Amino acid sequence: VRRDRYFSRHARWCGMTRLVLATGNAGKLKELQALLADSGVEVLSQKVFDVPDADETGLSFVENAILKARHAARLTGLPALADDSGLVVDVLLGAPGIYSARYAADPVTGEPAGDAANNAKLIAAMAEFPADTPRTARFVCVLAFVRHADDPLPVLCQAVWEGEIASALSGAGGFGYDPLFVVPGEGMTSAELPRERKAQLSHRGQALLQLMARWGETGL
Ligand code: IMP
Repeated sequence: VRRDRYFSRHARWCGMTRLVLATGNAGKLKELQALLADSGVEVLSQKVFDVPDADETGLSFVENAILKARHAARLTGLPALADDSGLVVDVLLGAPGIYSARYAADPVTGEPAGDAANNAKLIAAMAEFPADTPRTARFVCVLAFVRHADDPLPVLCQAVWEGEIASALSGAGGFGYDPLFVVPGEGMTSAELPRERKAQLSHRGQALLQLMARWGETGL
């Protein structure tokens, strides 16, 4: 209900009818499209416009989110919303971090190896530590919204979701590292949570709520 109210007010205020989502990641796309379903704004994937993935050359989630949003806005001529997200594991000094999608990438070609290989690499990395080592971690999501490619004042929202890394995979929902991310208080991984519950609790769901609140309060 809150989402609808913020969005309809926002959409009226700025006249925005279409928005491009600057991601080629199918899991993120599905979640963001579901979260924005009642927005009154047509939310289009950058794939519809054949936008290739942007080069993520930044050293932080914020930098990469802005790079991706500008890239999609430049190639489509539409306002763009980008999500840069990842998993930060304390005992791994923040890895895989901004390299979450590419954690198990081929070191020569840089070609990403996919979720299964990333999860296998994380299980192996955690197994190197003594059994009593804290397994605390968090998902991070930065959303960047740009009105146009050269927007000097992108709207930025950031949220984290605290959890722990399991020693084995559980659950078939979600995407990415969800089968290894144990959600305290829920007693299960984020791949086992119902979709709506993940949307409420997650770094992405929370960052999007912030963004909609900002739009509702200040417009564009
Ligand atoms: P990006 O596309 O460069 O932002 O990479 C994001 C990567 O972080 C994804 O490919 C996943 O590996 C991981 N990630 C981000 N959000 C989630 C989530 O909600 N669940 C599981 N993995 C996630």
